[in-house]
Amino acid sequence: MTLSEIQSLDRQHFLGVFGERLPVCFVRGEGCTLYDQEGRAYTDLFAGIAVNALGYNHPAVTGAILAQAQTGILHTSNLYYVQPQAELAALLCRHTFADRVFFSNSGAEANEGAIKLARKYFYAQGSGRYKIVSANHSFHGRTLATVAATGHEDYQEPYRPLLPDGLSQVPYNDFDALRAAVDEQTAAILLEPVQGEGGVIPGDPAYLKAVRALCDERGILLIFDEVQTGVCRTGSLYAYQQYDVIPDIMTSAKGLGCGFPIGAVLASERVASAIAIGDHGSTFGGNTLACAVSLSAMRYLIEHDFSSVAREKGAQLMALLRSISSPQIIDVRGMGMLLGVQLTQDCAAKDLVRALLARGFVAGTASGNVLRIAPPLILSAAQMEAFAKALDDALSGF
Ligand SMILES: *Cc1c(COP(=O)(O)O)cnc(C)c1O
Repeated sequence: MTLSEIQSLDRQHFLGVFGERLPVCFVRGEGCTLYDQEGRAYTDLFAGIAVNALGYNHPAVTGAILAQAQTGILHTSNLYYVQPQAELAALLCRHTFADRVFFSNSGAEANEGAIKLARKYFYAQGSGRYKIVSANHSFHGRTLATVAATGHEDYQEPYRPLLPDGLSQVPYNDFDALRAAVDEQTAAILLEPVQGEGGVIPGDPAYLKAVRALCDERGILLIFDEVQTGVCRTGSLYAYQQYDVIPDIMTSAKGLGCGFPIGAVLASERVASAIAIGDHGSTFGGNTLACAVSLSAMRYLIEHDFSSVAREKGAQLMALLRSISSPQIIDVRGMGMLLGVQLTQDCAAKDLVRALLARGFVAGTASGNVLRIAPPLILSAAQMEAFAKALDDALSGF
């Protein structure tokens, strides 16, 4: 099929939520390189929205998919024991604050689980606490509860009245606003340690520490949404580890399956012990194939210390981006391999992404006119340098 044939089918039959996409269809990938139908190569610095941490066709991913497929079992359901699910849960508990894990199929679903867990925790104590406070410019997903938690008016407006009741937002990195927003009915505070979709805005370390202290003082649960920041992306397995602020509940997804859909809710025993049989569930969540792939990828990432890799490569990439002297760049920020380039109004991030694509480079955007860079963690120094050159060149066209 040609690109225009695919575009025509998409325009006719796919729900119009994505509109005109970038004019490319990738058909093959290897390492950090993607190939389109004409065989043209692109260097990927976006990893399918911070998902493909090990790039394309990595043996730890491809091999695990093939090996699991060859057993003939992709799925058996949670009616039975699932070995890679048990092993993956154990691995996540070993490497994080968590004592217990539940698997979902996406980041939004993981956040749904986190919200349910927080409410159940208070319900089990006979407490009426139910409110969840999150941040403006946050992103927590597209289900009804996670849209209500997402501080983005465009995503919420068509779906009012918002479900469930009791979700509100305050400005991010503003401790006084948060303190003023919590009350006796607040069950949890839900934050991204670094806001990804919102513009790659790192949480202020003093802010996150103060939030933890507020939660302790007021008996509120702290939920970190690490769907985007997790899995070595920011330079530690999860970003909270660098902030040294331990949440009560944490969610993970994106990089967790390195391309295979899987999400997770992680919780301390204190919180998890509120959950009883039948409180939550999933047909697909924690599926054999998903867990086998994630287990293999996570073992590889941890054994090869990809947290340090992301920290070092991220610092190199940040330095390269900061060395570009373009009047269109206002700021370069981020953590590890999650970087944002703040652009001036005359240089639209989405146009810059097109200009980069035309030069054979894949990057993304974030709110607030930010070029977002979240590469596979296996990106080479030469690929980073080539990207910085291409960006410099693309910017000179604005
Ligand atoms: C992408 C993202 C989500 C939603 O994940 P989906 O898999 O698209 O449901 C939630 N939270 C954060 C921080 C994200 O970046």
